[in-house]
Amino acid sequence: MTDLYRLLPEEMEQLVIDMGYPRYRADQILLPLYYKFPKQLDDIPQLPKKLREELTAAGYTIGSAKETHRIVSDDGDTTKLLLELSNDNAVETVLMQYDPAKIGGHPRSTICVSTQIGCAMGCVFCATGQMGFETNLKAEHIISQVIHFAEILEKRGEHVTNLVFMGMGEPMANYDEMIRAVKILTHDRGFGLGQRHITISTIGIRSGIERLAEENLQIGLAISLHASNNELRKKLVPTASPTSVEDIIELGRSYFKKTGRRVTFEYALMAGINDSPEIATELARLLKGNGSHVNLIPINPTAGDFKRPSEKSVLEFERILFDAGINCTIRIEKGTEISAACGQLRTDLISKN
Ligand code: SF4
Repeated sequence: MTDLYRLLPEEMEQLVIDMGYPRYRADQILLPLYYKFPKQLDDIPQLPKKLREELTAAGYTIGSAKETHRIVSDDGDTTKLLLELSNDNAVETVLMQYDPAKIGGHPRSTICVSTQIGCAMGCVFCATGQMGFETNLKAEHIISQVIHFAEILEKRGEHVTNLVFMGMGEPMANYDEMIRAVKILTHDRGFGLGQRHITISTIGIRSGIERLAEENLQIGLAISLHASNNELRKKLVPTASPTSVEDIIELGRSYFKKTGRRVTFEYALMAGINDSPEIATELARLLKGNGSHVNLIPINPTAGDFKRPSEKSVLEFERILFDAGINCTIRIEKGTEISAACGQLRTDLISKN
């Protein structure tokens, strides 16, 4: 069985040509796939019945995700779904909406997708990390998370504006499938999302960052740093040792040089662990002068024993970075009350069942 969402538009074209049909038949499949959200080939009536039958006989299907749980935050801005994919895996996907009336700028509907079930990186503060690694998702399973929300939004007269690879799993540890999904989602004959509207978040896998830099794409990169020195980082990200904090800063610098896209360093702030003024000073020293942007994320209460720092210490941490000339923002995780931290809903549901 091959899910048609797996095919790049060029591959779809080759498929119909190989089956003896003119190339325009490919667009008659692609257009509805990404704008009408069919569930089966017979939902594309403009396609000749004979071609639909031949595709079915050759094992081509249209995969879709089934929603099994939905939680919406009190303010309605965050929707978290547990989706059952066509391979029967349960995955978390989140929609975060930003209302310009509250934060200025343009309205945004950002989908946070998962690339793996579980994760092998084992970050001690992350519910997915505590689950361990189960399996990699295929490109079509990553795409079906986006399509599911695109359909929900379309019914409200809205659309997907941004995509972040920050859900369950380490995207660079599933590089080939992740990048195939990115290419289809940004292809102008596929889902057509602008490359600059996509951010890949990684814990700092060197090979993945280097490969992404060579792709000639305008994709945003966020690297999760979480610590100001190697000893602390190893405690928080036990699998981090092959890549030192110095390596990570250097990888960010070369990504910027190659792509022109500035890298964001994500820093999850945990009370009493990595939020002291001394650590902020050490971090400032590490990042000074390289034009980095730091995103401070006071942690959500998750599976571990970690606590969110007080507002006072978050602001103090930010001030130290600012004073050292480091561009810095504080991101309050949306939807704390709905278990929006990655892997938390799945963990909560599994432990209840
Ligand atoms: S924070 Fe990201 S890389 Fe770390 S365990 Fe969780 S999903 Fe994996």
